[in-house]
Amino acid sequence: MQDRTELIRQDFPILQRTVASGAPLVYLDNAASSQKPVAVIQAMDDYYRRYNANVHRGVHTLSEEATAAFEGAREKVARFIHAPHSRQVIFTRGTTESINLVAHTWGRANLRPGDEVLITEMEHHANIVPWQILRDQLGFTLRYVPVTDQGLLDLDTLDELLTERTKLFCFVHASNVVGTINPVDELVARARAVGARVLIDGAQSVPHMAVDVQALDADFFAFSSHKLCGPTGIGVLYGKRDLLEAMPPFMGGGDMIREVTMAGSKWNSLPYKFEAGTPAIAEGIGLGAAVDYLQSVGMDWVRAHEQEITRYAYDRMSEVEGLRILGPGPEQRGGLIAFTLEGVHPHDIAALLDRSGVAVRAGHHCAAPLHARYGIPASARASFYLYNTTAEVDVLVEALHKTQEVFAL
Ligand code: PLP
Repeated sequence: MQDRTELIRQDFPILQRTVASGAPLVYLDNAASSQKPVAVIQAMDDYYRRYNANVHRGVHTLSEEATAAFEGAREKVARFIHAPHSRQVIFTRGTTESINLVAHTWGRANLRPGDEVLITEMEHHANIVPWQILRDQLGFTLRYVPVTDQGLLDLDTLDELLTERTKLFCFVHASNVVGTINPVDELVARARAVGARVLIDGAQSVPHMAVDVQALDADFFAFSSHKLCGPTGIGVLYGKRDLLEAMPPFMGGGDMIREVTMAGSKWNSLPYKFEAGTPAIAEGIGLGAAVDYLQSVGMDWVRAHEQEITRYAYDRMSEVEGLRILGPGPEQRGGLIAFTLEGVHPHDIAALLDRSGVAVRAGHHCAAPLHARYGIPASARASFYLYNTTAEVDVLVEALHKTQEVFAL
């Protein structure tokens, strides 16, 4: 496994650099955004150098080539997540926009006072705030599935929380703080039993494991390109076809219409109905290259590799005195570990780790309610990807000991 990782590391030029202190980079902030392999950088460079043009509208060579590459990327994404058809892959700016799209279109058309939307205490702000905004406008009720001390969803509460009033159940596939991989099959089955639709936030799952949206029976599924080796500025909303067909458009403008007159407009077919204006073309092509890259490595390998690193990190970090890991044991989590260190503010942890070249994130990781649940304002988070090694975990642990020494003085 280690040899394979060494080869993979060579695909990521940024991993060769040092940071301000002169130490080699140990990049453990992958849950925030991943690094990009040469294949992705080259695919975007190639578009701008050789066939840069707007898509869908032109009949000239460059536009046709750009359209083929952009739509080809949509096909690749559809195969990657096992969508039945690429029409059901809507390009957005990312997970956040995908969830807002569902709130503003499906939500406005289907939710009214008396209805309930169920989310969880474990959600990223991207899967909380859009529902709060909509609740304040439409007057439905927003409820939360509580999280246990171990960082698992408290499924015992579902009997009471999931009822015929529940129209939509939104939950994160893999948590960006406690790392928990949620039991999607059970959650979807429970939602189906009361006739609720489900929206799954896959921002932290699609980059790290094989995902089959049909097997999960997701009504809506959202994720971002930049966390899966692709560029920023593009992401995906997958939806079931009948739902997408019935939903009103999100934004109005070019490309999303079939016909416009002074009197009114008719909408384009899927996916274009939801893609107003010039899309992020280079980014879409980059996302396609990222999917190709991850598939060439193999998502099962990515998952197995991260499990190995996470198990190792969990054990080594547990040895550090005063270090508290948030969330369940390594078997129930994805490749990230959020933690606190007694007597040291998470921002100080991150700043001191940077001196050793280690990049981690500190703060509430856009999950303030979850931190409030644990009675802490913030945590530090080390998050792993296919190019990380156990040797890098050793650098992290050594840097954590150094941090403690600084604060013991
Ligand atoms: N949901 C989860 C679980 C996340 O981890 C993130 C990003 O950190 C998001 C949603 C939002 O993703 P984006 O900022 O790419 O829209």
